[in-house]
Amino acid sequence: MTPTRILVLNSGSSSVKYQLLDMRDRTRLAVGLVEKIGEDTSALAHTPLLGENAGRKRVQETRFADHAEALKAVAEELTADGIGLDSPELAAIGHRVVHGGLKFSAPTVITDEVMAEIERLVPVAPLHNPANITGIKTAQALRPDLPQVAVFDTAFHTTMPEYAARYAIDVETADAHRIRRYGFHGTSHAYVSRKTAELLGKTPEEVNVIVLHLGNGASASAVAGGRCVDTSMGLTPLEGLVMGTRSGDLDPAVIFHLERVAGMSTDEIDTLLNKKSGLVGLCGDNDMREIRRRIDAGDKQAALAFEIYIHRLKKYIGAYSAVLGKVDAVAFTAGVGENAAPVREAAVAGLEELGLAVDADLNSVRSDEPRLISPEYARVAVAVVPTDEELEIATQVYDLVSK
Ligand code: ADP
Repeated sequence: MTPTRILVLNSGSSSVKYQLLDMRDRTRLAVGLVEKIGEDTSALAHTPLLGENAGRKRVQETRFADHAEALKAVAEELTADGIGLDSPELAAIGHRVVHGGLKFSAPTVITDEVMAEIERLVPVAPLHNPANITGIKTAQALRPDLPQVAVFDTAFHTTMPEYAARYAIDVETADAHRIRRYGFHGTSHAYVSRKTAELLGKTPEEVNVIVLHLGNGASASAVAGGRCVDTSMGLTPLEGLVMGTRSGDLDPAVIFHLERVAGMSTDEIDTLLNKKSGLVGLCGDNDMREIRRRIDAGDKQAALAFEIYIHRLKKYIGAYSAVLGKVDAVAFTAGVGENAAPVREAAVAGLEELGLAVDADLNSVRSDEPRLISPEYARVAVAVVPTDEELEIATQVYDLVSK
């Protein structure tokens, strides 16, 4: 029997999201999430998606001291469903790794050298790569015989031309510290741009797409003929769009000002810009549903936060229209992009000169399927394309190990 199952792990500093998929028919066998690893009470929510318990979520609240304990508990849950990790059907474990630097432009089987490079990138991804490394080591200990494959969030963006990736700062300083635009959410941008081409009945090579990944983190990318040519996140996921808790673009001098005038430390500024800014900083809420509810109730602060969010989005749509020259589609994805019709409507409003328009009826349809929301006459298609990073990671991993 050829093994066809892939376990996908997305390890954060205190969490692990996982999915077990069977790539024969690209179905999900189980999904789950462990949170608050290392805290007094951790939580494991596990849902089998086949067999007699399909769809029945099981929640455990107990302490998992570290990722190793958490993954052991996940393995036990999978065993209880008859799909344990000791199965000969498991082909590989795929890991989402946030920062792959410039070296990794494709999914990569993790060797000692690959691991050393992921570790070398910790200074440019201090929040993310250490957690990914822990996840990999834990999975290696669990199944040392299996291929462990890294799929990098930065990989899709390695095709950006040098003039889009470089910041206009002293070249020697930039190179010494590997400072440049790397971009993130690459797995999603790759998947959604490809799916958008499919929706238009074209190959990825035939179309230019602007992808707007609007989740709690948010990023835009310009994709020309299937290759990323620009993206809004930079050295870290802080740059670009207004996000749930991150500021996105600002004058870098704001940082010196906060240091010199407000007396804030580097760590305090880091926390301010990453955790206390964006929508939450502007109005106290980062959930778009709540913000819309407040706007409907006449809340001016929420309305201004929404306007700032939309203004930034428009600027990126305009910028990437110019970067691409010709745009075939704008695709909205992730939590906000897939669900918040008012965001889609407002982001495109007034951009008729760029060939963009949204049909109100189509925009209000709720669906899990990729769909067009632009009127037939519009020159540029506007699409809602649900992202599926886990499926994309599993597909890339399976393609690599089944060759
Ligand atoms: P993450 O970046 O954490 O993966 P998601 O892509 O899951 O984020 O997006 C989460 C965000 O999506 C929430 O913070 C919320 O603002 C937004 N969201 C989710 N569902 C809806 C909805 N039905 N309407 C409007 N916004 C939504």
